[in-house]
Amino acid sequence: METELKTITPFTGTPFASTREQAFQRWAEFAPAATSYARDRNFVKPGGHQSVTRLSPSIRMRLVREPELVTDLLSKHSIESVEKLAQELYWRGYWKGWLEWHPGVWADYLKRVSIAPETYSEAVLTRAREVAEGRSGVALMDRFARELIETGYVHNHARMWWSSFWVHVEGLPWELGASWYEQHLLDADAATNTLSWRWVAGLQTKDKSYLVRLSNLERFTDPALLAESAGLERFNDKIVKAVEIEETADLKLATPPKSDPMPADTSKTALWLHDEDLSVEHSCLRDLRPAGIVGTSPSIQSTWATKARTDYAQLAVADGLARASKHFGMPNEQLADASPEALAAWASARGLTHLVSLRPFTGRLDLNAFRETLKAAGVELICQRRVWDQTVISQSQRGFFPYWENMRKRLAKRQMPLE
Ligand SMILES: Cc1cc2nc3c(=O)[nH]c(=O)nc-3n(C[C@H](O)[C@H](O)[C@H](O)COP(=O)(O)OP(=O)(O)OC[C@H]3O[C@@H](n4cnc5c(N)ncnc54)[C@H](O)[C@@H]3O)c2cc1C
Repeated sequence: METELKTITPFTGTPFASTREQAFQRWAEFAPAATSYARDRNFVKPGGHQSVTRLSPSIRMRLVREPELVTDLLSKHSIESVEKLAQELYWRGYWKGWLEWHPGVWADYLKRVSIAPETYSEAVLTRAREVAEGRSGVALMDRFARELIETGYVHNHARMWWSSFWVHVEGLPWELGASWYEQHLLDADAATNTLSWRWVAGLQTKDKSYLVRLSNLERFTDPALLAESAGLERFNDKIVKAVEIEETADLKLATPPKSDPMPADTSKTALWLHDEDLSVEHSCLRDLRPAGIVGTSPSIQSTWATKARTDYAQLAVADGLARASKHFGMPNEQLADASPEALAAWASARGLTHLVSLRPFTGRLDLNAFRETLKAAGVELICQRRVWDQTVISQSQRGFFPYWENMRKRLAKRQMPLE
């Protein structure tokens, strides 16, 4: 099969950093606000969310990585003065690690989304669409819904309110809201999104749901956004009650996979970059002498990502590839077709024996499908796990706070791996 080279159409619809350089620029711009992050981060105001980093899309694709940002923070500040920001940056790793131990939760989400059209009545599905598209009749929530559709980003507190509105006020199925977020968020991440929705729904932490309440909305929302008050009475503190949701996921513990052994002979080994990790030159693969470099964005041709999300991912992959080319001193190719078949065709047309990649976490990139298809084409897939990932996973089997205590101690002693 012929593989086609992707021509990237410049995507200008996002103010979010889509290259590593832009991400560090945004980080530098944000730096003066780092010590006031704990105080300011929960306030939702118009004007581009300046009291948070807005780096989640870049962190999601690993244009920059949490340990780089936290190391930079701690080179300038005491851990006490920036602890909240460091903690939030490490939340994401915790969720990703937790899902590695509990892949049944991801499988359950995928299944629930796939059977939703037969599971729910037409009335439920119609209402879900109205709320998702910003036609709920609650002006503030409709504003957040429109922001998601128009920009691919929503402030964390607004995500909490909106998802709670969806689940506990509208009584809509949590997985349909999570799936809508997954399609639209530029930072859409299997672990963080699914587990945050489950946490709001009361599934993630036993007997604990997150409830949106008027007193909280009034405290943290800029008065300009509350001026349109239609529907706010539905959040009266005395009215909002948790909907009880049944657990359907298999919570059995799995053993998270580690790195595959590298081949003895790497002369016919190429590097595969994907949008789960786009800083390969800052990883254990930096000393490889690859026979080629190929990149794919798994959201292409998907039904779970909007065009804006796919465009963003393609820009990010192009940046990851450009840096890899510079580092390894060779050209790269970005495939238009992100399927296992296209990758296998690319590899076998070049007579390769192995493809090496940084191991993605549990999520949309179905490694087994790639492994099988490549194997059938005579190419072995080798996935290497970052030391940082391995460390984070080892601590994330249980709750966040023991995890954070452990990470905080390591950070204080400068014993946290960077890569
Ligand atoms: C229902 C719901 C769905 C969400 N879905 C996603 C998702 O798909 N992808 C995603 O990256 N985040 C998700 N989040 C978490 C959080 O809302 C975003 O990470 C954050 O709003 C991103 O904005 P920021 O980069 O300006 O964050 P900042 O406040 O500047 O935080 C810095 C970084 O820390 C991490 N972070 C911050 N808050 C959280 C959190 N609560 N959980 C995990 N990591 C966090 C992110 O990587 C973020 O970029 C979700 C939260 C909720 C309530």
